[in-house]
Amino acid sequence: TSDYRVAVFGAGGVGKSSITQRFVKGTFNENYIPTIEDTYRQVISCNQKNVCTLQITDTTGSHQFPAMQRLSISKGNAFILIYSVTNKQSFAELAPIVEMMKEVKGNAIAETPIMLVGNKKDEESKREVSTAGGQKIATAWGCGFIETSAKNNENITELFQQLLALEKKR
Ligand code: GDP
Ligand code: MG
Repeated sequence: TSDYRVAVFGAGGVGKSSITQRFVKGTFNENYIPTIEDTYRQVISCNQKNVCTLQITDTTGSHQFPAMQRLSISKGNAFILIYSVTNKQSFAELAPIVEMMKEVKGNAIAETPIMLVGNKKDEESKREVSTAGGQKIATAWGCGFIETSAKNNENITELFQQLLALEKKR
């Protein structure tokens, strides 16, 4: 069994907790409950024979204390960067986190699995960030890309499977 420490980053309200809860507990809550940093464990099949244990840290957001962010980055083996497709600002707020990851991880950043995630894909009429726009940034940052809906349970398991697949590719 392999163990991965996964840290989830993104602005407040993008769906970090919803994606984590959907993946770990299979539930969804319409209400916004601001998070104090929380860690969950989940087992996932990572190839035909093996299972991996993910230790997922749902952070408080992109504006948590920089020292805490730094610590989550240095402890993490893999990262999930979430924005909401309905909020251009949440997309822009991820850039400083990526800069901090490069700084903290140094050369190891090239071997670190990172997924860029556009959540709330169910809210098509409120969309502010196009799929192509998200994909373009993911390519520039050298990370994987997926659009999800925690609400409709779309691409949630796929997100975590693709994250692990990035690990194996290297
Ligand atoms: P966090 O601050 O990043 O942890 O965001 P939350 O997970 O608390 O979600 C913020 C709000 O967005 C809540 O009201 C959620 O119900 C809602 N939300 C989360 N994911 C989705 C989604 O995929 N679609 C829609 N429509 N709403 C979502
Ligand atoms: Mg939260």
